[in-house]
Amino acid sequence: MSKEGAIREFIEEARKIVGDEFVLTDIEDIYPYAFDAMTAVPHAIPAAVILPGSTEEVSGVVKLANKYKVPIVPRGAGTSLTGAVVPYGNAVVIDLSRMNRVIEINIADEYVIAEAGIRLDDLNAELMKYGFYLPPDPASSSVATLGACIAEDSGGLRGARYGTFRQWVLGLEVVLPTGEVINVGSKCLKHRQGINLVQLFVGHEGLLGIITKAIMRIWPLPEKVVRILVSFPSPEDAARAVAEIKKRRIRPLIMEFLDRKTMDVVESAAGIKLPPGQAMLVIDLEGAPEAMPRYIKIVEEACKACNAVHFEWSDDPVVMEKLYYARRAAYPLSLRTRPKPDCLSEDITVPPSKLPELIKGIYELAKKYKIEHLFVFGHIGDGNVHPQFFVDLSDPEERKRAFEFFKEIMRLAISLGGVVSGEHGIGVIKKEGLVEEYRAKGSEYAIEIIKKIKSVLDPNNILNPGKVV
Ligand SMILES: Cc1cc2nc3c(=O)[nH]c(=O)nc-3n(C[C@H](O)[C@H](O)[C@H](O)COP(=O)(O)OP(=O)(O)OC[C@H]3O[C@@H](n4cnc5c(N)ncnc54)[C@H](O)[C@@H]3O)c2cc1C
Repeated sequence: MSKEGAIREFIEEARKIVGDEFVLTDIEDIYPYAFDAMTAVPHAIPAAVILPGSTEEVSGVVKLANKYKVPIVPRGAGTSLTGAVVPYGNAVVIDLSRMNRVIEINIADEYVIAEAGIRLDDLNAELMKYGFYLPPDPASSSVATLGACIAEDSGGLRGARYGTFRQWVLGLEVVLPTGEVINVGSKCLKHRQGINLVQLFVGHEGLLGIITKAIMRIWPLPEKVVRILVSFPSPEDAARAVAEIKKRRIRPLIMEFLDRKTMDVVESAAGIKLPPGQAMLVIDLEGAPEAMPRYIKIVEEACKACNAVHFEWSDDPVVMEKLYYARRAAYPLSLRTRPKPDCLSEDITVPPSKLPELIKGIYELAKKYKIEHLFVFGHIGDGNVHPQFFVDLSDPEERKRAFEFFKEIMRLAISLGGVVSGEHGIGVIKKEGLVEEYRAKGSEYAIEIIKKIKSVLDPNNILNPGKVV
C-alpha cells in the first residue's frame, strides 16, 4: 500500500475508535498544529489531528498507527521551544487536551493522579485548595500540559529549589509505540523495580511512548515567601551572586536573572519601574516567618559582596506579583518588540559557579557574530540561562552568523562543564549540540544507546520520528 493509502486507511479506522468529531482533517483545523513556539524551524502541516478521550482510545489509535506505519506525534499545548512537536513527514498529531481530569488527590500519601492533558495551572488550582502544589513551574504553566512537562523534563522558576519534573514523578501510565499500556512506578514515595523505567519516560520528548496518566508527588505550599529585587553594575556581578548566596547555605525558591535589555523591555511593555544597573536578580526566599529577616540579611550581604547597587524586598502580594510577572513575561514581552522577524532561544546550563564566565562569554560571542538584538534572562539559580536573540533568517549571511552564534553558545557551555539544554530539550534544533556534548565527554556512543532503546520500544519508528537523535 502507498504511504498516502496507508494514512487514508489509518484515518478512517481511527474515526471508529475516537468518533468522527475527534478526527480533524480540514486545513483550517489542522494548520495550527504545524508549529510549536520555536518558529525558527520549518513548520509542517500534519496529515490529520486526532483527539482521543481515554487511554483505551490512545492505545487503539497507536496500534493502528503501528499497523499502517503512520508517524504520530503526541502533543500537549505546542509550547515546545525546540521544534519537538512539529509533525514532519506527513505525521498525524495526537492531541491529548481532552484527557485533562484530576483522578485522585491524596494528601496523607503525598500524591496526585491526573491525566496527561491537564494544564499545570489547572492542576495546581485543584491542589491549592488543600494547601499543596506541584512545585516545578515552567513560565508557560497556564497552558503547558502535565504529560508534556514530564516528556520534556521541564523546569521553571522554582527549579532553583525544587528541580525539574524528574524529581516529582512517582509513576506513569504509558501507551507504548506498539499500543500496549504499561504502568511503571507506584503511589509509594520509594520503590525499586529493577532498571528505573519511570525515569526512562522522563525527558524522552515523545519518542518512547505516550504518557496518559501520571502519579506526581505533591508538596505543601510555602509558609511564607519574601521576594527580593537586587541589581548589579554588570551581568557578571549578578551571576557571581548566585554562588555567593549558595555558599552561605541559602537555597532560594527562585533566583531569576534579567539583563538590562530585558529589563528595559519589561519596563516599557509592562509599565513597571525597575532599578538602575546592568542586570538584576529576582530572588524568592521561603520558610518560617520568623526566619525571614535572617535569610534576607544573609542574601543582602552576599549581594553586596558582588557590588549590588540596589536591594529591596517585599512580602506585599501585589508588589510581589508585579515582580514575578516581570520575569515570567520576559520571553513573550521581548517577542512583542520583535526587532527582527526570527527569534532563537537558547537553554544552556552550567554548574552555578561557572555562570560569570558563561554570561561574559555570551556577550563576547554576540559581539563577534554581530548579534545586535540579544536578551539574556533565565532561571539562573540552577545554572540555566536563556540567551534569546532576534535575526532575519531570510538573509543568508545573517542566517549563517545566527546559527554559528547559536552553536558557539552551546560549545561555550560544554567547555564550562555544562549542557546544551537544561529544560527545553533537544527537539530538532539541538540535535548537533547533543552530539557535541557527548563527544566532549568521549561518549558519542550514548547517542547509539538512545537509538537502540528507541528501536526496541518503537520498532517501526512511528513515534515522533526525526527528533532528538
Ligand atoms: C512563553 C514560554 C515559556 C516557557 N517557559 C519554560 C520554562 O520556564 N521551563 C521549561 O522547562 N520550559 C518552558 N517552555 C517550554 C515548554 O513550555 C515546555 O517544554 C512544556 O513542557 C511544553 O508543554 P506543552 O504541553 O506545550 O507540550 P508540547 O509542546 O505540545 O510538546 C512538547 C514535547 O512533549 C511531547 N509530548 C507532549 N505530550 C506528551 C505525552 N502525553 N506523552 C509523551 N510525549 C508528549 C511532544 O511530542 C513534544 O516532544 C516555555 C515555552 C514558552 C512558549
